[in-house]
Amino acid sequence: MAPKVWLNGELVERERALVSVFDHGLLYGDGVFEGIRSYGGRVFRLEKHVRRLFDSANGIRLTIPLAPQAVGEAVVATLQANGMKDAYIRVVVTRGEGTLGLDPNRCPKPNLFIITDRIELYPRELYENGLEIITASTMRNHPNAVNPRLKSLNYLNNILAKIEAIDAGTLEAVMLNHLGYVAECTGDNLFIVRDGRLFTPPIAAGILEGITRDEILDIARRGNIEIREENLTRQDLYVADECFLTGTAAEVVPVVGIDKRTIGSGKPGPVTKRLAEEFHRRTRG
Ligand code: PMP
Repeated sequence: MAPKVWLNGELVERERALVSVFDHGLLYGDGVFEGIRSYGGRVFRLEKHVRRLFDSANGIRLTIPLAPQAVGEAVVATLQANGMKDAYIRVVVTRGEGTLGLDPNRCPKPNLFIITDRIELYPRELYENGLEIITASTMRNHPNAVNPRLKSLNYLNNILAKIEAIDAGTLEAVMLNHLGYVAECTGDNLFIVRDGRLFTPPIAAGILEGITRDEILDIARRGNIEIREENLTRQDLYVADECFLTGTAAEVVPVVGIDKRTIGSGKPGPVTKRLAEEFHRRTRG
């Protein structure tokens, strides 16, 4: 069965899932998206993802042509049409087809599409041995530019940081904000553990309010792990006992080296493992 893409209310074959070259999503990165996951046929935290999609759209003055519930239903319908149980789901809303100028008012109809795909994970050994990362010189977007809380279609900033990571022979890069504090990685939020406490940059540091991040904070809270959402410097990362990244696709990935500094023992730490195990239970349990 050829994979089907949900496009503006219809399930169409992948080859027929097309949008115009005049779509402002393509011309200007004018649009928003979500990355969602399903486990055993259940979509994880669907309402939260749909809400964030609508919040992102609101931030760029884009009206999604469906009610939130209908978007959620379309996600489930796409999954079922493709007979997928464990999937990565991409929901995209673009400004739609318009003229070559910037004016979004010239784009009368947004395009909404939903793609389901296999999950592309980091290699398994990275979850066991941990990942080495670098700090990128490319800064995270200023909160008064496109606020990083918006999951916009313009990821060029993060792509530039990702190129730096790849050039350095690593898979991820830490991005700092305009004040020099740690923000997040190119596609994941960042946590450290020091003296048994869990630290992560606050939303005001200019980060995406990750749904996996929220989940980890909830797990920590219930597990009586002290949480501090505060500004972190690179030095805070270097002297951490543990470090890990979180994201829908990656889940919880231990980090064992940053900028050639060994983090903690150089192996995934006990708090990271404990949080990852509970996250695993919540998603698969
Ligand atoms: N930060 C950025 C920049 C992201 O793109 C993502 C999503 N891939 C995350 C953090 C993690 O967010 P979530 O846990 O909601 O997937």
